[in-house]
Amino acid sequence: MRTYQSGTKDKKKKLSKKMLYAILMTASLVVIALIITLSLTLGGNRAPVIDAPDPTPPNVDVDVPPVKDPEAPKFASPMSNYSLGKLSSLEKLVYSSSMGYWRTHNGVDFSADAGEKVMAIAAGKVTAIQHTVLEATVITVDHGDGLFSYYKGLDTDVAVEVGQEVALGDHLGNVAANMPYERDEGAHLHLEMKLGGKYVDPLNYIPELGDK
Ligand SMILES: [Zn+2]
Repeated sequence: MRTYQSGTKDKKKKLSKKMLYAILMTASLVVIALIITLSLTLGGNRAPVIDAPDPTPPNVDVDVPPVKDPEAPKFASPMSNYSLGKLSSLEKLVYSSSMGYWRTHNGVDFSADAGEKVMAIAAGKVTAIQHTVLEATVITVDHGDGLFSYYKGLDTDVAVEVGQEVALGDHLGNVAANMPYERDEGAHLHLEMKLGGKYVDPLNYIPELGDK
């Protein structure tokens, strides 16, 4: 009897254990199902909130370069009415029909009517005014930090004097009728720039020339 009873008890125990497992499993499944349902439902409800326009604008400025140094000089074209003539050729020789030989072209030519106004391309100080035979009147402006601009092919009637501080756009002088060194180009301003004693291309400094 004992054996039987104990066996029955064992069976009952096993059965109750199985029942407990079954109940736990069912309960777990119900809980999981509830969690899934809830998350789907809540997720569905949340979706419009996520998709609604964000009151703070997206950070679109990430790729924009930082604001330029406010101390750095700003540049503008030396003339209002002109058409771009010969560009700089600082490395490669180009033939000069005016002089009859090959040479580098160390600046940019601004073709214009004689008398057209020439302005400072940036703030600076006039350091030289030279009246030459080949390049007509030449005005030199020091922009600081080793940067200079040279306005060649001007007439003798200049609007500034040596030592004068000029602002960007200030009137320096006027285009001469003739610049013998480049006479085949007609009346024009020949603008050169140097940085640390070496020629640099004005197109790299004056943004609006890139659009011409
Ligand atoms: Zn030139």
